[in-house]
Amino acid sequence: MLELAIIGGGPAGLSAGLYATRGGLKDVVMFEKGMPGGQITSSSEMENYPGVAEVKSGFDFMMPWQEQCFRFGLKHEMKEVVCIKKVGNHFSIMLSDNTEVESKAVIVATGGSPKKSGVKGEDVFWGKGVSSCATCDGFFYKGKEVAILGGGDSAIEEAIYLAKICSKVSVIHRRNAFRASPITVERAKAVPNIEFLTPYGIEEIVGNEKDGVSGLRLKHLESGEEKSIAIACLFVLIGYQVNNAVLKQENGSSICALSEFGEAIVNLKMETNVPGLFVAGDLRLDAPKQVVCAAADGATAALGAIEYIEHHK
Ligand SMILES: Cc1cc2nc3c(=O)[nH]c(=O)nc-3n(C[C@H](O)[C@H](O)[C@H](O)COP(=O)(O)OP(=O)(O)OC[C@H]3O[C@@H](n4cnc5c(N)ncnc54)[C@H](O)[C@@H]3O)c2cc1C
Repeated sequence: MLELAIIGGGPAGLSAGLYATRGGLKDVVMFEKGMPGGQITSSSEMENYPGVAEVKSGFDFMMPWQEQCFRFGLKHEMKEVVCIKKVGNHFSIMLSDNTEVESKAVIVATGGSPKKSGVKGEDVFWGKGVSSCATCDGFFYKGKEVAILGGGDSAIEEAIYLAKICSKVSVIHRRNAFRASPITVERAKAVPNIEFLTPYGIEEIVGNEKDGVSGLRLKHLESGEEKSIAIACLFVLIGYQVNNAVLKQENGSSICALSEFGEAIVNLKMETNVPGLFVAGDLRLDAPKQVVCAAADGATAALGAIEYIEHHK
């Protein structure tokens, strides 16, 4: 039986692996269905991790993380986890190759991914003027005009955030009403450099390979009138999909308590309501969805797992 199984090899899973192995746990396996590194490996620039002054691609940034973990004894199995079950006082981890592994404690760090809009040009310019993270990429567009696609709380809150950095923020939403709370919408409407374009849809993101995005072709969804706006970046903020499938049980319930959006509910030690089961990183409730925060969660969860295993010998 493993002492600790870590599901997911992004910043949260790798940090958990580092702290668990350096903390003395012997049989620690990280199950990662692909190459370790997580979502950030798809980012072309990473410049907001404290202490790392050099701007690196997400891939280059994450490479040393796994080397560091493996040095302390973390094992990586390139396998997909299908489900985690509690059996007596241990856990059973079902893998996609129909094998089963037992572990005393589990840290789930399967992260998530931002929803894409499917708008023409989105895939072409993703990372080159189309982004899903204002905190990550807003600073690259300091003093420039940008746009946000979306009408929920995060879209409107990010509009307020970007308005402090960028010269103008156009919020594009397909309805006249917003899903965001009325008070947030009122706050955004009071910001002079935020413009609301409703009910508009994006027909195409335009630009060129060398310079990235230069503008948007929009369509008014009631009149059909078309117009173009010049922007340097489109932030697609239409939702986030957490990877919580491994928590789901055969009867459709979840092994641990989830929020209405499917995020795992944890306390400050990253403990779920199931003893021995921890969740870290973007999958947990209220995750700031930043590498530094996911890494901190992973370390916290590993320290909790060491304590749990010690008390259940
Ligand atoms: C394009 C982009 C740019 C970003 N830029 C920045 C930035 O500049 N700064 C910043 O701080 N943050 C940035 N972020 C956010 C950051 O990447 C995330 O907050 C962080 O990666 C979350 O880490 P995590 O470990 O929780 O999850 P993830 O990074 O999502 O890692 C989860 C891992 O679990 C694996 N996995 C999922 N399901 C299973 C399964 N069933 N079995 C086995 N493995 C599984 C996945 O393959 C993945 O590797 C960016 C994100 C994106 C998408």
